Amino acid sequence: MRVLIVEDDIALAERIAESLIQGGLLPELCHDGREAGFLGATERYAAAVVDLGLPGMDGVSLIRHWREQGGDFPVLILTARSRWSDKLAGFGAGADDYLTKPFQLEEVALRLHALLRRSGGHAVPMLEVGPLRYDTMTSRFSLDDLPLHLTAQEQRILAFLMHRAGQVVSRSDIAEQVYQRDLEPDSNTVDVLIGRIRRKLGNHRLIHTERGLGFRLAKPVD
Ligand code: CA
Repeated sequence: MRVLIVEDDIALAERIAESLIQGGLLPELCHDGREAGFLGATERYAAAVVDLGLPGMDGVSLIRHWREQGGDFPVLILTARSRWSDKLAGFGAGADDYLTKPFQLEEVALRLHALLRRSGGHAVPMLEVGPLRYDTMTSRFSLDDLPLHLTAQEQRILAFLMHRAGQVVSRSDIAEQVYQRDLEPDSNTVDVLIGRIRRKLGNHRLIHTERGLGFRLAKPVD
């Protein structure tokens, strides 16, 4: 799933991005508050990580701006500030969680996964659809209790479908969560990747095609 990282410390932003990729997420970097304000209002992100001290527009104003524009994706604040008043301002603007620097890099992905599954209505870290399981803590999939080996793109698609199990998701919804914004999403490629995932799911018919609408991950009805 696409995550926008807004952090003007470029080295730190890149380390966070690397750790999110390891965690099965698709990070995009932005180093300026004003640019982030535009991106969050025009692109679709599953979540965002926001530093409070930013050039262009500070993090609290940025989050308030997104919320005013109707952006309801979860936001994790990252900051060196640990003052209570900063936390209060961040939550007041609409942030969902707070991490004070220095932090363990892995903790960013863990907290994001927790925010993502809660925003998808899941309270526990293990998502299940029939014999298919997705552990959001480790980003690993299993099928019939055996590890399911997926490429990074297949993993992002299946994770997105697991978070929205039972719902119809369109090809463009999938493409937006799987490709970077500077690459032109090709809807045929989504079909090709879904085809590969289906083959890996073998006889389990879990991904249903909804004609003209997209796909739905669900247990087969008997
Ligand atoms: Ca900063």
